[in-house]
This record gives sequence, C-alpha cells and structure tokens, in this order.
Amino acid sequence: MAVKPIPFNTETVMKCQCTKCPVQADSACVKGKMSGMKAAMMKNPLQKEDVPGMYCSTGRATCGDTDFSKMCICMTCPIWEEYKLAEGKPMGYFCRDGASM
Ligand code: SF4
Ligand code: SF4
Repeated sequence: MAVKPIPFNTETVMKCQCTKCPVQADSACVKGKMSGMKAAMMKNPLQKEDVPGMYCSTGRATCGDTDFSKMCICMTCPIWEEYKLAEGKPMGYFCRDGASM
C-alpha cells in the first residue's frame, strides 16, 4: 500500500520521471502527448489521458506503443521515495500494471 494517496497535480507531474523513461522513449503516442503538455498543464483538474506519466497515481497508460523490454526508472523518482512506493504493489511499471496500491 502506498503510504498515502498520490495526488495527480502539476506539482507531482513536474517530479514524475516517466517522460525520461526508455519504455516510452520511442512511443509516437507519448511524443504526441508531450507536444500538448503546455496546454494540458493549464487544465484544472488535469486529465489523465493528456499526461504521459503519473501512472503510479492514475493507473495504466493510454498509449499502447510502449516497450516493456526496457527498464522502468520509477526508482529514480522523488515520488517513489516520498510515497514509499517500494512498499506497495506493483513495484514500478505502473504504466503497464496499474496504480500503486
Ligand atoms: S513513481 Fe514512476 S509513475 Fe510515479 S511519478 Fe514517479 S516516475 Fe512517474
Ligand atoms: S511507470 Fe515506470 S515504466 Fe512506466 S513510463 Fe513511468 S518510469 Fe517508465
């Protein structure tokens, strides 16, 4: 169980490392969302389908063209530490396996 609910807001999106992750690096779908991030971040509340990250909070990715043979880098993320995600499930790959519980 994550120690507390992980908020999905501009502050946590800024900390999320998913946009640097090799799993998403070659995804045309993710690149498309990245190009719309400025507008996406102006929305209140943020919309899950606009943001290619924060999967530990919002659950599985809406992009399908990701490469899970590559390494998840959630362990390098400040949110991982702050919300003790190593104590929850799944252990990373939230984009594939759903939000941290
Ligand atoms: S733990 Fe992973 S999914 Fe959650 S904010 Fe960090 S990089 Fe993104
Ligand atoms: S949840 Fe992990 S594997 Fe998925 S994009 Fe974020 S860092 Fe990469």
